[in-house]
Amino acid sequence: MKNIDILNKINDISGLKIRENEPMSLHTSFKIGGTSDVFAVPESKDALKCLIKRAKEEQIPVTVIGAGSNLLVSDKGIRGITIKIATGLTKAYVKDDFIYADSGVSLAKIASLALKNSLTGFEFASGIPGTLGGAVYMNAGAYGGEMKDVVVKSEYLDEKANIKTIIGDSHEFGYRSSFFHSKDDLVILSSEIKLQKGDKKEIEEKMADLNQRRKDKQPLNFPSAGSAFKRPEGYFAAKLIEDAGLKGKSVGGAQVSEKHSGFIINTGSATAEDVLGLLRLVKETVFEKFGVMLTPEIKFIGEK
Ligand SMILES: Cc1cc2nc3c(=O)[nH]c(=O)nc-3n(C[C@H](O)[C@H](O)[C@H](O)COP(=O)(O)OP(=O)(O)OC[C@H]3O[C@@H](n4cnc5c(N)ncnc54)[C@H](O)[C@@H]3O)c2cc1C
Repeated sequence: MKNIDILNKINDISGLKIRENEPMSLHTSFKIGGTSDVFAVPESKDALKCLIKRAKEEQIPVTVIGAGSNLLVSDKGIRGITIKIATGLTKAYVKDDFIYADSGVSLAKIASLALKNSLTGFEFASGIPGTLGGAVYMNAGAYGGEMKDVVVKSEYLDEKANIKTIIGDSHEFGYRSSFFHSKDDLVILSSEIKLQKGDKKEIEEKMADLNQRRKDKQPLNFPSAGSAFKRPEGYFAAKLIEDAGLKGKSVGGAQVSEKHSGFIINTGSATAEDVLGLLRLVKETVFEKFGVMLTPEIKFIGEK
């Protein structure tokens, strides 16, 4: 469908910021990606719901992103409508030991709310550079904590754009997966996070310590999408990659980080094809040397 036809079908929906042919390199931490035909940022849940409903009625393909910190976008870009949840849906508040937040709220903001209210349990996520929606979708985790430990309830749009709620175990959290992987078109609207009363100073110190550990270990001065591969059972992906002699290995502008072999970095001019080529090379070499099949943690989206 041509951009103009898509725009004509959605231009009466209020509360949307819309752009055409938007470079996705501006919306991903990898700073890679072709253009999305139509790029929309809903400023309310109603606007998001209307947009999803309309896209379904008109059979326009939809891609939902959070802050784009776990994504590799195709060099050919994304057809249809790309909906960015970060920056639009950003309400969050605290009540007792609970934090209620829209899916577009950053984990850093939730961590700072937790700290301000002396709530402990969210320290692990304070340095993960994504939104709540992306983190719930991925069951993001670090330093022994996961979203699974703190998310008790979520509101989402189902495949017919109806608002639904799930609680507790229905999130089906697994290692870097959740119930929201079960179908392609579920959109997380908000979640409720249960924490515990703690000591403000201890919470602050723990967050500072974990963030320092990130700075010390991770190549934060280069664009990336975090750990390139999931942790294979019984191994560490970074160690396997390093032991396979791949530290610093490059394909075009994509490189296995010298600082942390688990990261693939964009040294400045990487394309999605470069990253895909390097992911393939790493997978094949590690399998040849150690018989372990690595699975990418990074999500590839867009035209193949
Ligand atoms: C430097 C760096 C460090 C990182 N460290 C960690 C770490 O320690 N632990 C960790 O787990 N991850 C880490 N990551 C990866 C990433 O930050 C997390 O996976 C994060 O949770 C992704 O959130 P996002 O909002 O950026 O999602 P995106 O990358 O935009 O999207 C990820 C997936 O979630 C889906 N999605 C996003 N929002 C919604 C929604 N509202 N409804 C439905 N689906 C949605 C997207 O369609 C996509 O499939 C790191 C990344 C970087 C760049």
